[in-house]
Amino acid sequence: MDRAGKNDHNTPPRLCAPRRAMPLQPKVLIANRGEIACRVIRACRELGYACVAVYSDADALSRHVWLADEAVRLGPPPSAESYLRGDLVLAAAQRTGATLIHPGYGFLSENYEFREQCAAVGITFVGPQAYAMRQMGTKTLARQAMHAAGVPVVPGSLLPLEGREQAAKLAEEIGYPVMLKAAAGGGGKGIRLIAGPADMAQAFAAVQREALAYFKDETIYLEKAIVRPRHVEIQVMADRHGQAVHLFERECSVQRRNQKIIEESPAIHLSAATRAKMGAVAVQAALAVHYEGAGTIEFLVDPEQNFYFMEMNTRLQVEHPITELVTGTDLVVAQLLVAQGEPLPWTQADLDQRGHAIECRVYAEDPANGFAPSPGPLVVYRPPTGPGLRLDDGFCEGDVIPRYYDSMIAKLSAWAPTRAHTIERMIAALRQFEIGGIANNIEHLIQVLQSDAFRTGPYDTGIVQTLPPLAAEPPDDDAFAVLAAVTAAREQSSRRANATQSESAWAQAARIDVLRSV
Ligand code: ADP
Ligand code: ADP
Ligand code: MG
Repeated sequence: MDRAGKNDHNTPPRLCAPRRAMPLQPKVLIANRGEIACRVIRACRELGYACVAVYSDADALSRHVWLADEAVRLGPPPSAESYLRGDLVLAAAQRTGATLIHPGYGFLSENYEFREQCAAVGITFVGPQAYAMRQMGTKTLARQAMHAAGVPVVPGSLLPLEGREQAAKLAEEIGYPVMLKAAAGGGGKGIRLIAGPADMAQAFAAVQREALAYFKDETIYLEKAIVRPRHVEIQVMADRHGQAVHLFERECSVQRRNQKIIEESPAIHLSAATRAKMGAVAVQAALAVHYEGAGTIEFLVDPEQNFYFMEMNTRLQVEHPITELVTGTDLVVAQLLVAQGEPLPWTQADLDQRGHAIECRVYAEDPANGFAPSPGPLVVYRPPTGPGLRLDDGFCEGDVIPRYYDSMIAKLSAWAPTRAHTIERMIAALRQFEIGGIANNIEHLIQVLQSDAFRTGPYDTGIVQTLPPLAAEPPDDDAFAVLAAVTAAREQSSRRANATQSESAWAQAARIDVLRSV
């Protein structure tokens, strides 16, 4: 062959024609379980990538294991012996020839040491560089970095607290109420509201204990408690070529135990000016730590629309579907491409918010009993379907929700052109959701969506506490447990579906529009 690639007839032909270098098909190991593992597998399938699942003994028969091309056992059920074992996950990736590891959320997703170990053996971790993970993964370091970058942070300590006395002194300075928080915290754990000095000693010991138990790190810090705050977060995405965009906001103020249960996008009553300012600040924050991949900047917004940086999650967020629904994007596909060095698939000008989306987290938990987790057999599981609905789940009817992990069963999302329509669509879908065999929070989700506080807003993070407690469901102690569960789930959903309803706000609005147009 000459330079132009044409045949050179003066040289003898080779016995074996040189093989064209075929691009290697990426193979992704998903270092997670449940719905998020299934979600990532779906994105891999669309891209034509091979996927490897990992599982603990509690998940050997799980949906994510069946969906993947290959599956590798990690170990016994406890996370510390399975999904948190970075060494076993890496060994599984090497053994199966995986070229990328997607960590999902929780588990190893915010562990910068694991990220470094992946890099050391040439495996691409789908997430930011270790520097950004470390800097933003510890709340005190993140507060320092953001303060230095000119981002407004919740007033409080930038350095870890040295002891109770220092905490009490600082609290006096910034003024009660204050929040004591674990620097390594996540999932709503290691957080205490302190109303006045009398509560400090006990709260300090409790947060330190919780921080050590959950995060093996007793570093704690203190910040001002924002009164009647709204949790509004901005989705960001950046590539290694220095480009960063935001994909607007998610309102996540419906929480129990400081953890979200209902999220929506756009956030109601956020002024256009505040929305634009928050987006710009979030991009500025991402660029300040040379961010790469998908991340979320969480802010607290006070009633006057002042906003303060609270933390950054350097991973895919549980509630990412609502952003995908209103922006028409696929964040997991974008994550996989960007991790392999591709430029961002969109510029800021390409991105827009269209319509309204709400996500409900359906949990195996008992709202009438302090939202206590209620793992167990999913005897009946019939999720709804229909126009404008999206279901992210990882279980099938007959599966057992293990007691070892987060007790989320599924995420149900709804989209419609208006917020009022989305609320009605979601309520109708939840009413059709049949779950039997274990306690669940569907009634509670409906209660929140129907409340005046949610419908008219703006609501704040105290919304769940303002609602009347739900009556306890009678225990299911029938000998014919399966039959009883099926009957109970059917009865429950038919009761919900037949509940007399006044005409919904969006239906009224639609009727008025029709009348106007005739
Ligand atoms: P998100 O922040 O994406 O809205 P959550 O706060 O509900 O979602 O956390 C998602 C999952 O990740 C939960 O299972 C939670 O327990 C886990 N998680 C989050 N942060 C941490 C952390 N720092 N350490 C351990 N687990 C965490
Ligand atoms: P996690 O890492 O567990 O998600 P966050 O720091 O994001 O913890 O806080 C979780 C929730 O706790 C927030 O969404 C909010 O409801 C409440 N919270 C945290 N800090 C404050 C604060 N300074 N003032 C008022 N509420 C707060
Ligand atoms: Mg948070």
